[in-house]
Amino acid sequence: MLTSLPSRQGSNTTMPQDSTFVFFYHHVLVAMAGAVCLFGTWVGMRHFARARATEGLTRYGWLFMASVGTGAALWASTFISILALAPMQASAFELGPIAGALLIAIVACLLGFEIGSRHTPHLAPELGGLVMGIGILMMHYVGLNAWRTGGTISWNSYGLAATLVLGLGLSALSVNRANRPVTRYCRHGAAIVMTFMICVMHYTLSYSLSIAPDSSVVLSPELMPATMLGAGVVGAVLLVMGSGFSSYIIDLRSRTESADRIHQLSFNDTMTGLPNRIAFNERLAFDVADAHEQAHKVAAFSIDLDGFKDVNDVFGHSAGDLLLIDVAERMRQSIGPGEFLARQSGDEFLGLRVSGNHPEDAEDFARRIAQVFQNPFQVHGQPVTLTASIGFAIFPTDTPERDQLLSNAKLAMHRGKSRQRGTISKYHREMDDAARTRRALARDLQTAVERDELELHYQLQTSLSDGAICGAEALMRWRHPVRGLVSPAEFIPLAEETEAIIPMGEWALQTACRDAADGKIPGTVAVNLSPIQFSREDLAERIWSILLETGLSPSRLEIEVTESTLMTDTNHGLRILRKLKSMGMSVALDDFGTGYSSLAMLHSFPFDKIKLDQSFVKRLPSDAAAAAIVRTVLALGKSLGIPVLAEGIETAAQWRFLANEGCEKGQGYLFARPVPLGKLPEAIRGAQSVDANQPSAASSHQAAGYVQLSLAV
Ligand code: C2E
Ligand code: MG
Ligand code: MG
Repeated sequence: MLTSLPSRQGSNTTMPQDSTFVFFYHHVLVAMAGAVCLFGTWVGMRHFARARATEGLTRYGWLFMASVGTGAALWASTFISILALAPMQASAFELGPIAGALLIAIVACLLGFEIGSRHTPHLAPELGGLVMGIGILMMHYVGLNAWRTGGTISWNSYGLAATLVLGLGLSALSVNRANRPVTRYCRHGAAIVMTFMICVMHYTLSYSLSIAPDSSVVLSPELMPATMLGAGVVGAVLLVMGSGFSSYIIDLRSRTESADRIHQLSFNDTMTGLPNRIAFNERLAFDVADAHEQAHKVAAFSIDLDGFKDVNDVFGHSAGDLLLIDVAERMRQSIGPGEFLARQSGDEFLGLRVSGNHPEDAEDFARRIAQVFQNPFQVHGQPVTLTASIGFAIFPTDTPERDQLLSNAKLAMHRGKSRQRGTISKYHREMDDAARTRRALARDLQTAVERDELELHYQLQTSLSDGAICGAEALMRWRHPVRGLVSPAEFIPLAEETEAIIPMGEWALQTACRDAADGKIPGTVAVNLSPIQFSREDLAERIWSILLETGLSPSRLEIEVTESTLMTDTNHGLRILRKLKSMGMSVALDDFGTGYSSLAMLHSFPFDKIKLDQSFVKRLPSDAAAAAIVRTVLALGKSLGIPVLAEGIETAAQWRFLANEGCEKGQGYLFARPVPLGKLPEAIRGAQSVDANQPSAASSHQAAGYVQLSLAV
């Protein structure tokens, strides 16, 4: 008597059985295959999530665990589902291919997870899933080939094609769900899809399969009986999955412990009582791992106080410290559960917030922090208004790299701050482009001196009473091989950030001194010095040796410094300036009126010249406020016995006004633009022919031919 299998393939078994029992037994085996697959891949996906959240060797460790767990589960469920194809049929398996199939499963999972966890190409998760799908299909193929039954097996090609398509598609979907989670349930979704795939593959295979019982087929005793394989498979799988599950639990435990450690470390900033930078990093690692698990997002914040330096300068450092404590306390009170605040250093703070609802929740956090600054703080009994510039970036939306997250938040903060203080800025990818351009430019700047890309242009300085030329200021130019002439307003701050300004400044000094010593520059030559150059203790000695090398008399060299040079470390700055003066050089205070314009500074050092900033000169003579400031500076210079040079004179009217008010010297496009050394004789002739009664000679700054780079970050 022949009994039909409960599926539609109409295959037969040799053993007479009750068809309800066979039906039941068949589906129990399929359910068992599904359960093994579900549990195994669920644990595997947990390991995979950990692999995604870690780096280096640890990542490979987790990938291996994920592959062994998932591979073993898929292997076991595949063989159980093969057994379920003909549950009542006497069957057995060849041993070698069974082991081979396990290896295929693990290797396919390893490859699939490795590819699937990459950030590029964009379809990496689906590609990884396809690789796994191919592995699972191969495993089925090997398993079915190793399967021996007491009959002849034949296949239906439509069913096999359906198995192929469904197997590949569903495994791609599974890895896609694991890697692109939308909700916290997606990771469970990945295991469910895998299980669904195993079941679907079973049913499509059973549709494709028919067995014609053949009593002449005798199962070799060397084969492994199906029951033994079943028991072996279940035992092996329990072992692998048990160890996988326990490692997951151990990891969870150690992460909880590390969260406790973060808590202990948390109060390391003794001044404000806030967690410090180390605690922030640990918390970030923890939150990112957690976000992977929960399919949440992490927002990192960079919070920078605006104008805090002024408080320190005006009220002193201890008042500044008290203010920081006050700020930290107010911020601490404004944060809620799931939010984290740390102090990076100085007036910079950091924040974290885990949520499934970013960027809305991130904006809400930033707004709460900004509100902290709405009411003035009290410093020495006086109200002081502060603002904070806040930048934030979201993981994994803005970057899948944990280490990049804070850099992005800082980039957003700096970008916002450079436009307007006290703003909240969200990171955008275009910011990266600007930063990249900036970084590329900074890199090129490192070799600008070696590659001979720097030039000096000279701008004449004249006596305002008679128009006689008294000297020239050396202004650096950078001829970038690709971008052309770059404005010093763009590259000097960049060179200061990377300290490339030190060799560049030295080159400028050397070149200017040589040109002046060669008799190509009339009178004194003025060279700008950056505050960064003052960080070198031997600056005065370096300049002295340049003077010796070039043979220029120190009395013909004028050093231009801005107030910020002396602000950073007044004593150190003053010491070097005094040394320079004692060597016979003169020192000019550049851009006066734009910085602190501190009287104390003018008193503490006998400058040889005050250079009145062009922002005031530009508004002369019609602007009453500018005129008042100019008169005050001129009066100040007179009372201190320091001559004043007005920068940026563009019109004859400005010249007349300044000369009438007693300003001794001037510099500006009216007399001469900055020109290369070769064109200086022509510029001298031009300057000598300028008449105080002639109409305007102004022209725009852009006419200097700089490329405008949008580098404001
Ligand atoms: P600065 O030292 O105040 O130089 C004067 C700037 O005003 C120069 O800009 C000059 O071209 C510009 N200028 C002169 N007359 C006029 C005028 O009539 N109208 C207008 N609109 N502008 C005028 P430049 O050459 O672009 O230099 C900008 C700044 O870059 C300089 O300001 C200086 O702070 C810095 N810099 C230039 N060369 C060096 C250098 O060798 N070392 C350092 N550390 N800084 C330098
Ligand atoms: Mg200058
Ligand atoms: Mg200036």
